[in-house]
Amino acid sequence: MTTTPDGPAAARRLLIVGPPGAGKGTQAARISSALSIPAISTGDIFRANVSGETELGVLAKSYIDKGEYVPDEVTNDMVRSRLAEDDAQAGFLLDGYPRTLAQVDALDAMLDEAGSALDAVLMLEVDYDAVVERLIARGAEQGRSDDTEETIRKRIEVYREQTTPLVEVYEKRGLLRRVDGMRSIDDVTTALLQVLGA
Ligand code: ADP
Repeated sequence: MTTTPDGPAAARRLLIVGPPGAGKGTQAARISSALSIPAISTGDIFRANVSGETELGVLAKSYIDKGEYVPDEVTNDMVRSRLAEDDAQAGFLLDGYPRTLAQVDALDAMLDEAGSALDAVLMLEVDYDAVVERLIARGAEQGRSDDTEETIRKRIEVYREQTTPLVEVYEKRGLLRRVDGMRSIDDVTTALLQVLGA
């Protein structure tokens, strides 16, 4: 358990949400090392499977390249087995999951079974036009197959339709912590650690 001399124990079972290009992966890596918890990115796990040409990868690629979500059952099973690993027992930061209301229910059930619950949901607030620019630049630098302008627009549309309803769910539970994601990378990290009391 991490404690600070003058504050409460830092929350350890966390989600980070925000639109594509909001900087979730960058911030997740930083929070993960600051709190010594694994950052678990469903997008990264899918991409590793795509590169490894596994059965899961072949299936996932057909959705990812269109900017659509991989079917819930596939994603839920993958997360369930990842959360069962040893390193996730003391806490985790999930990046890119849950993304649909069905995934919220599935995650609740997984945590319930394990006798645990979420501590906080970090939300990176960004402007949609700015993220399109960031993603086009990332596509040019990293060659991600889903960072083309057409796919980016589709991903943002899918995010607005399927993922923004989650914000309300977590807000009602009192778990949502909003942070301005348009500031510098360091400032965003500082703000995230601050809302976590870390
Ligand atoms: P983004 O930058 O769009 O947030 P990610 O790396 O998190 O990208 O995800 C890339 C793609 O992987 C998504 O567009 C989707 O096809 C698939 N994916 C990732 N997480 C999920 C999820 N929780 N449910 C369904 N599909 C997912």
